[in-house]
Amino acid sequence: MKIAVFSTKAYDRHFLDAENGQQQHDIVYFEPQLTADTARLADGFAAVCVFVNDQLDATTLESLAKGGTRVIALRCAGFNNVDLHTAERLGIQVVRVAAYSPHAVAEHAVALLLTLNRKIHRAHNRIREGNFSLEGLLGFDLHGKTVGVVGTGRIGEIFAGIMTGFGCHVLAFDPIRNPTVEQLGIAYVDLPELFRASDMVSLHCPLTPETHHLIDASAIEQLKEGVMLINTSRGALIDARALIDGLKSARIGSVGLDVYEEEADLFFEDLSGRVIQDDVFARLMTFPNVIITGHQAFFTQNALQNIAATTLSNVTALESNEPCPNLVSTAVLRR
Ligand code: NAD
Repeated sequence: MKIAVFSTKAYDRHFLDAENGQQQHDIVYFEPQLTADTARLADGFAAVCVFVNDQLDATTLESLAKGGTRVIALRCAGFNNVDLHTAERLGIQVVRVAAYSPHAVAEHAVALLLTLNRKIHRAHNRIREGNFSLEGLLGFDLHGKTVGVVGTGRIGEIFAGIMTGFGCHVLAFDPIRNPTVEQLGIAYVDLPELFRASDMVSLHCPLTPETHHLIDASAIEQLKEGVMLINTSRGALIDARALIDGLKSARIGSVGLDVYEEEADLFFEDLSGRVIQDDVFARLMTFPNVIITGHQAFFTQNALQNIAATTLSNVTALESNEPCPNLVSTAVLRR
């Protein structure tokens, strides 16, 4: 199939080309993000391949449909950036990579948590400056602490398992219980109880209308004083302005973010020579107890290989009218 790949980076091209040796699609790479303005680039392409910050709203989808696009192949798990109702109305099929390496994301969440606790980011800078003082670097033993896991699907399950390995007491919240998580001896509790009891809270649920700003001012009031908050899921799970207030009042002790609500204007680009225009993001970067990575939790070799293989297999399956387990439909929104 003729595939237009948007938001292409060198690593996307590397892994997709390597995989396409076996699948033989006709791939053209475009660097720009897919938006209503760039959708015309895909004219004549039956498939469009996109990533997390491409904007597949109604206008973009209408434009793609006019140009002959029938398949949207997401090279990610989340699909909150696609207007599924419009895609369905236009007869565009949407496929995703449901699981490429849940380990990659879970391990990154743990990396953020360990870095924040033991202040590795600050220690690293200090040592390079010849400052060997330990003042301000005090951490705590993870053993015996309580970790709240919000969303116990593929990633949350692995994260929860790793934290039990540290000797943490793990609490979980998810509308659907995961038997593997229960077998680890992890208790499901309601969200207020998880907020009240957890020393650390890690978010692993998808972004839906229900989870938008799950962590807002009122949730922050319910959190344990000095809680550590980790978000590797989607930025809009957290109201960033409320988060700043929570950090200023010290109710929130530390924050590790791999995602940010307005990341589409920032992440995946080298903006080091420019002035950051987003004042909320700029304020977040000033806190010594906040670390931010630019949506890199997925970014391992294993994950990129799996993403490329599944993305192209998804397109091959739809092209040959075979069943594809990775189809996304509006039915998932009603679950
Ligand atoms: P998954 O579908 O396997 O699990 C999501 C879980 O969240 C499910 O068990 C679901 O029941 C639960 N859930 C749904 N609504 C909830 C709610 N209101 N409260 C609590 N739980 C709720 O998904 P996954 O593969 O574990 O991925 C989780 C999220 O991680 C994705 O939605 C995506 O946004 C994010 N992600 C981020 C990266 C990254 O690089 N930072 C990479 C991959 C995925």
